[in-house]
Amino acid sequence: MAENQALFPPMMMKEIADHAPFNTFISSLKASIRNAFHERDNIEKFIQQRGFPAPVWHDIMSANPLSVGIPEAYGGRGVKVRECLGVLETAAYESLPLSLIFGINIGLFLEPVGKYADESLKAGIFKRFLNNRNMGGLMITEPDHGSDALNMQTFNRKNGAYYDIQGTKHWQGLTGMADYWLMTSRASTDGRLGRDIDFFVCDTHQPEQRIEVEEYYNNMGLYPIPYGKNTVNIRVPEQNKLQPETTGLKLMMDLLHRSRFQFPGMGMGFIHRMLDEAIEHVTSRFVGGKSLMALDQVKHQISRIQSAFTISSAMCARSAGHSGIENDLSPDAVEAGSIKSYLTDLMQESAQILTQLLGANGYKAEHVGGRGIMDSRPFQIFEGSNDMLYTQISEGVLKMMNKQKIVNLLDFFRSYPLTVQAADYFRSFLNFKVDVNLAQRKLVDLGKIISKVIAANHVVVLGGKGFRADLIQESLETIRHDITMLVSSYRFPTQTAPVVDYRDNSSWLDFS
Ligand SMILES: Cc1cc2nc3c(=O)[nH]c(=O)nc-3n(C[C@H](O)[C@H](O)[C@H](O)COP(=O)(O)OP(=O)(O)OC[C@H]3O[C@@H](n4cnc5c(N)ncnc54)[C@H](O)[C@@H]3O)c2cc1C
Repeated sequence: MAENQALFPPMMMKEIADHAPFNTFISSLKASIRNAFHERDNIEKFIQQRGFPAPVWHDIMSANPLSVGIPEAYGGRGVKVRECLGVLETAAYESLPLSLIFGINIGLFLEPVGKYADESLKAGIFKRFLNNRNMGGLMITEPDHGSDALNMQTFNRKNGAYYDIQGTKHWQGLTGMADYWLMTSRASTDGRLGRDIDFFVCDTHQPEQRIEVEEYYNNMGLYPIPYGKNTVNIRVPEQNKLQPETTGLKLMMDLLHRSRFQFPGMGMGFIHRMLDEAIEHVTSRFVGGKSLMALDQVKHQISRIQSAFTISSAMCARSAGHSGIENDLSPDAVEAGSIKSYLTDLMQESAQILTQLLGANGYKAEHVGGRGIMDSRPFQIFEGSNDMLYTQISEGVLKMMNKQKIVNLLDFFRSYPLTVQAADYFRSFLNFKVDVNLAQRKLVDLGKIISKVIAANHVVVLGGKGFRADLIQESLETIRHDITMLVSSYRFPTQTAPVVDYRDNSSWLDFS
């Protein structure tokens, strides 16, 4: 019998999910996941298949993990960010795809529905999540409009008490699997598309709201999550339209920023796992009669993962206190972008380091290191490609500097609430004037610097609350090192440009 089911019979499992103290709830979830992946089945066997085996999924969902994303008034645990992040972290330690499935449901569906859906819809939706294990995702991206999502061509037209919606969407997590979608589109009047973005809840169990999957994609990582191309030709009742406080664009920013703030839950569990695997390996593997851990370069690499562990801890602590649905996060582009882009870079780096340290064994498809490289890679692309976000972070900060008539970067960091406590750790190398007309590559360097100073500030705050001082110090030192390198790149005057038509006179064979 399943380990947690032996501990907790089914009725008690539901009781725990809905009402138990958080520690009991999370222990039950941990036991469910461990049991599903290591006792009932073996994750290394099925991880290269599409989807989780049904009994594995059943065991995991028996702990009702998505109850954290449902308001108390509807029988859930009350959408407390700390709990949502705890669920994401617990899942990510065992499986990043599992955590992303929870993240999609919580951040991209349940939270926006809880905040913006018509009251008449909520009871039915939340009941199906709690009792029938329903799932929901978000459809934004289109084949011709990804990073420039605001130009999406999917349109809606009011037709009596309904909206007709048509278009094509692709790369949606849970394609063909979700029971509900949040569908984005632009209002069409007289053949012209409006600038605002409208959001509609669509229930795929209703014949007129079914989304047709045209094609499933062969995604390289995140195997358990289906992706593909969807044809949208649906009719939804008018009450299915989300109600923005002002504009749909502001709703979209609030939604996306909240989701970016909650990435650290997924990153936390994933990086923690990379760290544990790496320490376990380098302390038990002997090369030339010496433990790998005795090598200085190995110590350096482990320290980098450990610093990522501390940074994601600090980001989680910050997010738990700041990103609840009661707050309007639409203006928080700089912080949300910083958290998402830096955290996802750290996830990818941690997986790369672990795979390197494992030697050849890390290259086995079933190993969590090599698999982690492919699973974490798209986190740097989706919900805002990182290069785009780093650019936007710099533009946001330059705008603030301009408004406040500040030209020196250190002066800005000393005055900005998100960096004020960390600014002086970096005073020796951030004390320079920032050019207002920077090339994009320099904006990206600057964005990376800003995101690291903001993260350092979160680390300092976490240290102030009593988090282990040695981890805090090592992490700040690692961030200082990285910022020094970035400042050097920022200052290096380069305008290299690719030669697109490079084929003539460029084969080495002609010169040997
Ligand atoms: C695994 C996975 C899961 C996803 N989940 C979802 C989902 O659940 N729902 C959904 O709607 N979509 C989802 N997406 C889609 C994702 O959000 C888009 O792929 C992303 O927005 C990029 O759009 P695109 O693929 O069209 O790339 P493009 O817009 O063509 O961009 C390609 C690349 O160009 C560069 N680039 C683009 N713009 C800029 C810029 N301004 N500055 C610098 N560089 C730039 C970046 O390197 C970027 O990665 C997912 C994608 C993946 C891979």
